[in-house]
Amino acid sequence: MSIEKTLSIIKPDATSRNLTGQINSIIEKSGLKIIAQKRIKLTKDIASRFYEVHKNRPFFQDLVSFMISGPVVVQVLQGDDAIALYRQVMGATNPEEAEAGTIRKQFALSIEANSVHGSDSTDNANKEISFFFAETELYES
Ligand code: ADP
Ligand code: MG
Repeated sequence: MSIEKTLSIIKPDATSRNLTGQINSIIEKSGLKIIAQKRIKLTKDIASRFYEVHKNRPFFQDLVSFMISGPVVVQVLQGDDAIALYRQVMGATNPEEAEAGTIRKQFALSIEANSVHGSDSTDNANKEISFFFAETELYES
């Protein structure tokens, strides 16, 4: 096991239903530490750049529109095997396939409005964290 950092986003479907605290509680109960967090407004340009890897997928435009439809909470989570652990805590992309107790099983509305994002690899975690956070915003203790 190694201490890792991962990027999490609480998506507009969850912020609009006032679920930030409940999601943070699940995150903290899993042992992950929220070491940085801010509630922000994404623009079309920022959301498109963040999800650039999906730009040729049929759902890309809808996904970008969804991500700018309300505030998002971007956060950095730290802990043992944080990247894989948070993917487990989130559950499958499609909430119908997500396991009981996961964030997506409990809160997601659809495969698109699925409440949370989590990085899927070390490389992407590093890229995604620096996409949203400056070094001075990350106090790693
Ligand atoms: P994950 O967020 O689980 O890593 P992906 O990286 O494959 O999933 O997709 C990014 C996001 O795009 C998903 O979280 C979801 O919001 C949206 N998405 C993925 N697949 C679909 C789909 N088939 N239809 C609509 N939206 C989708
Ligand atoms: Mg992904």
